[in-house]
Amino acid sequence: MEDCLFCKIIAGEIPSQHVYEDNWVYAFRDINPQAPTHILVVPKEHISSLAELTPANSVHAVKCLEAVPIIAENEGLSNGYRVISNVGEDGGQTVKHLHFHILGGRKLTEEMA
Ligand code: 5GP
Ligand code: ZN
Repeated sequence: MEDCLFCKIIAGEIPSQHVYEDNWVYAFRDINPQAPTHILVVPKEHISSLAELTPANSVHAVKCLEAVPIIAENEGLSNGYRVISNVGEDGGQTVKHLHFHILGGRKLTEEMA
C-alpha cells in the first residue's frame, strides 16, 4: 500500500523505535504513548483492520498475537498488560493498517471505552 503510514514504517521509509520483528510481524513504540510501555504490533502484510479479516488472511493477525507474549516478556510486563485493536470510525482507528496496541507498565484504568 503506497500511502499507508505503517507500510512505510515496516519498509524503513519512516523511522521507528523497533522492538520486535519476524517474518510476519513488525513491532515498534507508539509515537504518542498512553502508558509507560505502549507498543504497536503490525502484520507486514497490509490488512486495513480486523474488519477485513478472513480465513484467507487471518494468519497475519494470529502471528501478531503470537508475538505479543514474546514482546511482553522482553518488556518485563510480568504483572500484566492490555491488548487493543481499534476498528473504524467508532473504534477510533486513525491508521488504516491492522495493529494491536500493547499497553502496560502501570495499573491501567478499568474503563474499556
Ligand atoms: P489507532 O488510533 O489507529 O488505533 O492507533 C494509531 C497509533 O499510531 C496511535 O496510537 C498513534 O500515536 C500512532 N502513530 C501515529 N503515527 C505514528 C508514527 O509516525 N510513528 C509511530 N511510532 N506511531 C505513530
Ligand atoms: Zn499498510
